[in-house]
Amino acid sequence: MRSVVVHYKELALKGKNRPWFIRLLVRNLKGALAGLHVAAVRSVMGRIEIELGDETPWEEARARLARVFGIANFSAANRGPHDFAALAASILADLGRREAASFRVSATRADKRLPFTSPQVEREVGGLIKEAKGWRVDLEHPALTIHVEMLPDGAFYFFGKEPGAGGMPSGTGGRVACLLSGGIDSPVAAYRMMRRGCSVLLIHFHSYPILSRASQEKVREIAALLTKHQLRSRLVLVPFGELQQQVVLAVPPPLRVVIYRRLMLRIAERLARKAHARALVTGEVIGQVASQTLENMTAIAQATPLQILRPLVGMDKDEISAEAERIGTFPISIIPDQDCCTLFTPKHPATRARLPEVEAAEQALPIDDMIAAALGAAAVEDFRFPVLEYAVARRRGDPS
Ligand code: ATP
Ligand code: MG
Repeated sequence: MRSVVVHYKELALKGKNRPWFIRLLVRNLKGALAGLHVAAVRSVMGRIEIELGDETPWEEARARLARVFGIANFSAANRGPHDFAALAASILADLGRREAASFRVSATRADKRLPFTSPQVEREVGGLIKEAKGWRVDLEHPALTIHVEMLPDGAFYFFGKEPGAGGMPSGTGGRVACLLSGGIDSPVAAYRMMRRGCSVLLIHFHSYPILSRASQEKVREIAALLTKHQLRSRLVLVPFGELQQQVVLAVPPPLRVVIYRRLMLRIAERLARKAHARALVTGEVIGQVASQTLENMTAIAQATPLQILRPLVGMDKDEISAEAERIGTFPISIIPDQDCCTLFTPKHPATRARLPEVEAAEQALPIDDMIAAALGAAAVEDFRFPVLEYAVARRRGDPS
């Protein structure tokens, strides 16, 4: 098969913005397939055609396509003529020795001015294939569906459809900043925002050198994995251990967790604004742990005027874990580490922190100086997918 036909669904609903969405999807497809010798990616009347090159490795191209957001389904396809007999001959040649218990031809017309109807294509082309192969026609539950899409200058045909990743093309949803721990939840939260078309800045708070570098290694791995979806990511690593020590010295134990979180949000807000991100994202879930009661979440959120998005807020842990498995972050998340929030975490954190109390406790802290110090010591790391040979060479300082 020389092409891939890509179908989008949700995009069709977007009215005036449609050309822009399609342009971004085409851009993202080109980016995702970079280095695979693809000849062209173009929008063709309501679908996208990827023209493969002679050297394109299909399995790799397929794996990358399955991660691109904004795709309903895709299929390896070939082009054929309008003429029914010639089209059937072309399909039969591609079917080769393939066998099927039953089949049907399913036709659509991209251009309604074509001088034949879809049922006519199905009947005529299907009849010729049945004659040649002797397969039974089953319109309801065919073992093999042969799709034919009639375009003004010819036809696409393909066998079956592979599910796409759904969602919206990266870059259509605006920029957000996700607080990414090494845990199970926040990587899933970041993924969900990416799937809705957002570009996600990743922010991690660590307690190195008080604790090991393990949490940083984990979020790097998670960032690299998520970058296979959004193609470019920035990860900001913020040292948080010293701030926690300051909190421990000044704040009674029950309020500490809420105050750590408020500090994180304030720092994240600054980083978000600098990156032109319009909202913060967390992996918070109602009732999951002591800091995630509705009361505490409210007291925490009031540390920033920025919108806070919590894509997992109503999910059960097992649902989140299943999604983490599916997207591949779960095995990384369960690697043991010392989370900065287990450090200095009291045994009995308040479950109903009230804002006046929290604000009074914060009076004892030089909040602005703490934020400035953390921002000054933050490190930035950029990720790209795919990592092309020349990019690796350049990073190593190779002359080529
Ligand atoms: P997760 O599995 O995402 O760590 P959790 O159930 O362990 O979530 P908490 O540890 O209370 O819950 O964290 C709530 C949210 O706060 C996280 O989902 C994440 O968005 C943010 N967060 C917590 N710790 C950190 C950290 N070290 N760096 C960045 N964000 C963090
Ligand atoms: Mg956690």
